[in-house]
Amino acid sequence: MAKKRGLIIVNTGEGKGKTTAALGTALRACGHGMRALVLQFIKGTWRYGELEAAKRLAPQLEIIPMGEGFVDLSRQPPDPRDIAAAERCLERFEEAAASNKYDMIVLDEINYVIDYGLLPVEKVLEALKRKPESLHVILTGRSAPGEIVDIADTVTEMKEVKHAFQKGVKAVKGIEF
Ligand code: ATP
Ligand code: MG
Repeated sequence: MAKKRGLIIVNTGEGKGKTTAALGTALRACGHGMRALVLQFIKGTWRYGELEAAKRLAPQLEIIPMGEGFVDLSRQPPDPRDIAAAERCLERFEEAAASNKYDMIVLDEINYVIDYGLLPVEKVLEALKRKPESLHVILTGRSAPGEIVDIADTVTEMKEVKHAFQKGVKAVKGIEF
């Protein structure tokens, strides 16, 4: 049977659930014997539970925090070192895609990285164009560029109705990290 065409999926918007929905999809894929890679473009300050959980599902589920090289993600214009770090992340995606080892690759927070000006959207579009036909790719992060939305198959915009944070509840273990 010919391999099915891979989908391009975008999780964006201001509400909570973009990264966790992508991780849930990767988990679902693992249950079918598929192999999933999560590349985290931006390093968070929390000890994310999913990193430990993924170790139990390795090598089917692999999560690689790629954000080590980033220095100052508040600067405008962006620090050239941050641009270089973002480019290394995208190269890593292209290598992983070309390796044909994976059925699904999550590019976590890449939308934000593009919107912030660290990666030209054209470069990301080119990388997606070159991906193996059957590979699924999920792009997460706020402010997904219109060009990415245009080429995607499925786009979900998380809408914040309310969030415990507004009541002063700090990030909760197992929920936020
Ligand atoms: P999650 O990882 O929980 O699915 P996310 O990927 O949609 O969230 P990000 O923009 O990546 O959200 O947010 C980074 C951190 O802020 C995460 O710990 C997330 O849980 C939390 N967060 C997300 N949305 C909100 C919100 N509307 N208010 C407060 N905190 C939020
Ligand atoms: Mg996220």
